[in-house]
Amino acid sequence: MNWDSAIDSGPVPEDGAEFDAIVVGGGPGGSAAAAFLAMKGAKVLLLEKATYPRDKTCGDAVGGKSLKHVEELGVKGILEETPHFRVDGIIFGAPNGKEVRIALPEEEVELREAGYSLPRKQFDTLLFRNANEKVLDAGGAVVQGFIVKKVHVSEGAVTGVSGIYEKQDYHFTAPLTIGAAGYTCPVAKAITSHHGEPMIDKDHYCGAYREYWTGVKGCEDWKGAIEIHFIDGVIPGYFWIFPVGNGVVNVGVGMVLTEMDKQKTKLRALQEWVIKEDPKFSKRFADAQMVKKSGKGWQLPFGSPRKKAPSFQPRRCAMAGAICVGDAASLVDPFTGEGIGNALLSAKLATDLFDLEKHRDGFPSETADDYQYKLWEELSAELTNSYKLQRLVKRKWLMNFFIGKAVKKEELQRALTDMIASKEAQGQFHSKWWMVKTLLF
Ligand SMILES: Cc1cc2nc3c(=O)[nH]c(=O)nc-3n(C[C@H](O)[C@H](O)[C@H](O)COP(=O)(O)OP(=O)(O)OC[C@H]3O[C@@H](n4cnc5c(N)ncnc54)[C@H](O)[C@@H]3O)c2cc1C
Repeated sequence: MNWDSAIDSGPVPEDGAEFDAIVVGGGPGGSAAAAFLAMKGAKVLLLEKATYPRDKTCGDAVGGKSLKHVEELGVKGILEETPHFRVDGIIFGAPNGKEVRIALPEEEVELREAGYSLPRKQFDTLLFRNANEKVLDAGGAVVQGFIVKKVHVSEGAVTGVSGIYEKQDYHFTAPLTIGAAGYTCPVAKAITSHHGEPMIDKDHYCGAYREYWTGVKGCEDWKGAIEIHFIDGVIPGYFWIFPVGNGVVNVGVGMVLTEMDKQKTKLRALQEWVIKEDPKFSKRFADAQMVKKSGKGWQLPFGSPRKKAPSFQPRRCAMAGAICVGDAASLVDPFTGEGIGNALLSAKLATDLFDLEKHRDGFPSETADDYQYKLWEELSAELTNSYKLQRLVKRKWLMNFFIGKAVKKEELQRALTDMIASKEAQGQFHSKWWMVKTLLF
């Protein structure tokens, strides 16, 4: 499958051109939003800073929630034809070294959230290629290598953006601008600053560091488990090992920013310590090699509910003329670190609300508010549960006790899978009576 050749985006539109919608950022959220809009017949301008194919720092796990939207976008068939690692289980490791492996039957891949893992370079390129094709077919334009620098706000509404392409300035306008440029998105900055609300919240932002390795013991196949370890010395953060196929493994550590500040943690050094010094992992990495220049740090803006959110949860992400999706709307799951699924889901919600005829003269603040209510209605239960779990796993003794029990009890193994996989089942996990009953009897 040819996913790694350059993508031809055609000519750059003239400075001052008008569109039905502008999408800033061509990651999963932006590519999905642009494609969904083009599928509705909108004339879209998709602006992406990088030139595809490009890497994105990630754990590379693409869950069942993402697959549903990938299918709707018409990319699932192509995705399945490209090399990918099939996730058929999840291993959780406790601080005392005990591990529980939870099987994930193939027929449940789409019901549950674990599905595939494959390098983001590959996954994102497939989505961007699809968006590029759909946007151009519908009469829109796509520009790679375009950096959006400024978001224009006039009379309380976003009216367009300006930025730089090959050292030249351009300004474009549209009734709707979709911010999909990740955790530093200029549209998200414009929206929050226009309302005098904070964008970054260190209690709800996570630092993460990733490397690719080959030769890691136990990760040789194209099918198997992804691993999440709560290691003594890494808690309150966690260490992951996600194979991506062909003997290549995505290895990383993550920790909430306030905890990193408290402990003065340097993630690269922490990961090196685990790989070289931890009694269990040093053996698995004894003959392994890091893929050169694959070490990269990034941030994950979590979707956990804020204590005193000034307006919307998890934070304001829309206003007249603008909507943010994905990381730009701070939607990453605070327990699993997954953000691709919510990037695609928010892109779908945002574009469903855009009415080509009705919003020709402007996208009103009431519809922007509707988006924020709908988004939180859809995601609040799972994001709130995941936040509780994130806080729970900080306690070493609890993780030792829990995983120790789970090794022996099938019901708990199921619950652990549910906690990461099936969001609906998280309610049961949080029932105190269920917890006491299952742990003690
Ligand atoms: C270490 C790590 C591990 C993770 N592991 C997982 C995982 O296993 N599974 C999972 O589901 N999620 C994971 N996530 C989260 C996931 O990576 C994000 O949630 C996801 O990428 C969000 O997609 P997005 O489209 O919103 O933003 P992004 O993927 O960040 O895409 C934003 C795009 O905007 C472009 N851009 C940025 N600024 C501008 C600008 N000024 N002008 C134009 N374009 C711009 C960028 O080049 C980029 O292409 C992980 C994140 C990290 C950091």
